[in-house]
Amino acid sequence: SVPLPGIPGTTFERTLVFVKPEGVHRGLVSNIMGRWERRGFTLVACKLVKPSYELVRQHYNYMSERPFYDGLCEHMSESGPVLAMVWQGRDVIKTSRLMIGATNPLTAAPGTVRGDLAVHVGRNVVHASDGVIGAATEIQLWFRDEEIAQMDSAKNPWLYDER
Ligand code: GDP
Ligand code: MG
Repeated sequence: SVPLPGIPGTTFERTLVFVKPEGVHRGLVSNIMGRWERRGFTLVACKLVKPSYELVRQHYNYMSERPFYDGLCEHMSESGPVLAMVWQGRDVIKTSRLMIGATNPLTAAPGTVRGDLAVHVGRNVVHASDGVIGAATEIQLWFRDEEIAQMDSAKNPWLYDER
């Protein structure tokens, strides 16, 4: 079976994506999920959760010296639920970063989630892991092993020119 964080560099690569509270409140969940589905990725885990303050502080630990850190963590844990997802597929980590767009929606390209659906960096609607290590760490932080489906995608021959 595929390990929790997936297998980077294969069609079993996995990444963590979540819709932030503002995206859930604004009713953008299906729009955002649909983008990953249509691109050809496979949803292997999904839950609507109100993350604890501790989980969020750990998730954004690398931001702890920044002035907006406390506000960001309070917003993420107190404003409402977050839709946390694990998506699987070849190059899903890098592709998901391209699909969410630049951190500041002001410079996010149209066609990206932030370029289409957000205006301010403090309410930029979505998260995606920024690399192989981040993806592995974050998937294990947000999900338990048994919450992730083992999916063997029947659609793979129509997505990849390889066996
Ligand atoms: P991301 O990986 O594109 O989400 O960006 P970062 O990892 O650099 O930052 C994490 C999150 O911190 C962002 O998605 C924003 O929610 C928040 N953030 C980053 N920079 C700023 C800022 O200058 N102001 C505010 N208010 N929030 C910020
Ligand atoms: Mg980041």
